Amino acid sequence: MGDIAAIIVAAGRGTRAGAGLHKQWRPLAGRPVLAHTLDAFRRAGLDRLVLVLHPDDMARAETLDLAGVTCVAGGDSRTASVRAALEALSASPPKLVLIHDGARPLVSGPEITGVITALAQAQAAAPALPVVDALWRGTEGTVTDTVPREGLHRAQTPQGFAFDAILAAHRAHQGTASDDVEIARAAGLAVAITEGSEDNLKLTHPEDFARAERLLAARQEGAMNIRLGNGYDVHRFGPGEGCWLCGVLVPHERALMGHSDADVGMHALTDSIYGALAQGDIGRHFPPSDPQWKGAASHIFLRHAVELARARGYRIGNCDVTLVCERPKIGPHAVAMQEALAGIMGCEAGRVSVKATTSERLGFTGREEGIAALATVCLIGV
Ligand code: MG
Repeated sequence: MGDIAAIIVAAGRGTRAGAGLHKQWRPLAGRPVLAHTLDAFRRAGLDRLVLVLHPDDMARAETLDLAGVTCVAGGDSRTASVRAALEALSASPPKLVLIHDGARPLVSGPEITGVITALAQAQAAAPALPVVDALWRGTEGTVTDTVPREGLHRAQTPQGFAFDAILAAHRAHQGTASDDVEIARAAGLAVAITEGSEDNLKLTHPEDFARAERLLAARQEGAMNIRLGNGYDVHRFGPGEGCWLCGVLVPHERALMGHSDADVGMHALTDSIYGALAQGDIGRHFPPSDPQWKGAASHIFLRHAVELARARGYRIGNCDVTLVCERPKIGPHAVAMQEALAGIMGCEAGRVSVKATTSERLGFTGREEGIAALATVCLIGV
């Protein structure tokens, strides 16, 4: 998006949000408001950002991540501040420019791209919300008139423009304006209305910060969409040669007994995925009573569990399998097991751990009557 620049206007001195720090520097979820605003544009793919600051705040900007950001000192009005940023960009003019209030840190990707998309057809575009409440005029606590709301909109930002057009409009404009749409319209530009969002609030009053914190927490919860599961399985030794363990046939003088190939490690891992999805266990999806699964290769089960996870919007974050046995020795095969499991699950081997322990010759695993396996998985919502 090198041909699109975004101007973040933060040179104002709003103090209605509470005493002390100016609102664009106040902490929101532990970071300055402006840090959130800059990140919102970076997430939308914009890498040419101009931050317009009060001259007294230029040093404070060093506390922000300024990758791709040019800081410009603002003027004594919003209009003058935007003009300063446009002039700074004019040395190497972008095709489009988005102009955004720094105090709107919750602007979303769809709102930003909605404006950019509209600019393919229009010289100017900006998000807004239709007014749904009835509107009154009032004086000294008394309603003096009702105002028809038809066609009324609440203006938001970012307001987007063809760069050359808005630069010319600003250069021609006399005095101040409440926003850049006003300046664009004064210059005769048609401004398309795009879809705004209730969440794209302009932090103004102390209660706005509380609301923004709640919205950010909810978004974070959405981003932290993870599910954990565990699995445990045991198979006993019986006559045979070699044991299937985590997708690898490990040489041994005995084999593991079971309905399928008795890959105890893969079964534990498969159950951990079903568990993370709250979808029961292998027995529920592949009943042992059904003869078609007799002697089945366990990768059928594991692949089914991974596909079920994928269908529900999850991928493997990581998984960890522990085999409990005295023999065979697992260490020499651990890497091959990791790669085999990763191949079946369609993920990088670095997301898969296979390790082993003995049980100090105690219990059934210590007496080499069988092998136990435990598995943990983390599924990440995509
Ligand atoms: Mg089993």
